[in-house]
Amino acid sequence: MSQEQQAVARARKAFETGRSKCLEHRIRQLQNLQLLFTERQTEIADAIKKDLNKSEQGTQLYETLGLEGEISLAIRKLKEWAAPRSVEKNLLTLSDTIYIKPEPLGVVLIIGAWNYPWAVTIQPLIGAIAAGNAAVVKPSEVCVHTAKVMERLLPLYIDKELYPVVTGGVPETQELLRQRFDHIFYTGNSTVGKIIMEAAAKNLTPVTLELGGKSPCYIDKNCDISLACRRITWGKYTNCGQTCIAPDYILCEPSIQDRVIAEVKKSIKEFYTDNPKTCPDYGRIINQRHFKRIMEMVTDSTIAAGGENDESDCYIAPTVLRDVKPEAKVMQDEIFGPLLPILSVSGLEDAIKFINKREKPLALYVFSTDKKVIDKMRDETSSGGFLANDCLVHFSLSSLPFGGVGNSGMGCYHGKFSFDQLSHLRSCLVKQLKMEGPNSMRYPPHTAKKLGWARFFILKTVDLGWIKKMMVFAMLAVVAAVVIQNYVS
Ligand code: NAD
Repeated sequence: MSQEQQAVARARKAFETGRSKCLEHRIRQLQNLQLLFTERQTEIADAIKKDLNKSEQGTQLYETLGLEGEISLAIRKLKEWAAPRSVEKNLLTLSDTIYIKPEPLGVVLIIGAWNYPWAVTIQPLIGAIAAGNAAVVKPSEVCVHTAKVMERLLPLYIDKELYPVVTGGVPETQELLRQRFDHIFYTGNSTVGKIIMEAAAKNLTPVTLELGGKSPCYIDKNCDISLACRRITWGKYTNCGQTCIAPDYILCEPSIQDRVIAEVKKSIKEFYTDNPKTCPDYGRIINQRHFKRIMEMVTDSTIAAGGENDESDCYIAPTVLRDVKPEAKVMQDEIFGPLLPILSVSGLEDAIKFINKREKPLALYVFSTDKKVIDKMRDETSSGGFLANDCLVHFSLSSLPFGGVGNSGMGCYHGKFSFDQLSHLRSCLVKQLKMEGPNSMRYPPHTAKKLGWARFFILKTVDLGWIKKMMVFAMLAVVAAVVIQNYVS
């Protein structure tokens, strides 16, 4: 048996004991996970510093703070999420008990990416634990140091049989994919997303695919360009551009391009000083393969700001590219690095056309003070998430489903959405073994009269709220009548 097979078999066996289903057990595991993030911040931050040159504050802000929030939300809400959910009835089922009962799926495989290695690996795990599943956790091998820390720390805090960590690269992941799971939760690029889905199809395993793509950003000329550029600069260069929802490119009218460039430059200086290379808040490209990939994208475009780089340090300065053509190399794939191309459009209509000609993005950004512009952009395009006048922040809200559409992914998570995504929402109907009368219309012989009754009972919509109110009113009337009668006699 391979190491991967063993881990999956152990998780399956542990799931079959039934302990992951117990609400107290789930809450205890989540509390232990919470403890990991309060006790091991330094080890977590040291590893991420080596992988991506993130500062300790940056790691907390962009990785662990959100996780801590999601864990405490799950602890607080778990009983409510896991409870049977009552549903509306029709006339035929008025006397039945009908509800949705969320139940665990079984063993979930979580495959993480490297750019926010804790956030994208542990956040699905929180959902898996809360929903009562076992989960095999496969962190990305690309963030070498973090993968090791995760492999060492997780078993110290949470049930290592139920939630084993498997490390390794492509061969190990592919060996995992040959095993049978009840759900696969993958975060990474779309090309590998297709491999995951193909492997899952062999067992009809459902998948959540959290993918990427090119997220457009339209700047309307009617807006506070200075403020817009400040927010875009933050969204773009955080984690050195290696953010799945980073604004990939800017669309704007040629008349404002120079102003946009000047404002982005101003914000780069404000956030990362004159020399971002020595700024503790400016990250590095994850490895030389990605460094080369990104630098190749610059070769046929004009640099308006930045462009400095150092391969030995995986450093690429925050860079702005001007007058970029749609055919340019930088426009062919998701950039996933600190390059910000600016493309000209003649206005809103043209921007919408440009966006709709391409794959549906994970995020779409519009900056404008005109509500009509914002609404039109929202209504005439499609994307995983839509933000007006800001970047990235929708990721931090547990009340919004986070996920892509089309090429940017399928399924969603965060907060209760994670719980539902990794649960089976089981339909339950409990009828009493009496009151057979109304059922006769469904039994043969089928006649026109029975069909007429069935039409009435199935299609007739009744306002049960109104019926309840009438019943309460009738009861009150009876009580009043009794009281009056007693009083009078
Ligand atoms: P990556 O290289 O770390 O790959 C992700 C995972 O896939 C790893 O665990 C790796 O082992 C596995 N993998 C890689 N190749 C494989 C193969 N051939 N067969 C089986 N498994 C394989 O990460 P990446 O893909 O470079 O991540 C960056 C991408 O992820 C970007 O496109 C980004 O937009 C996207 N992303 C999306 C989200 C989101 O929430 N939607 C979050 C982060 C990153």
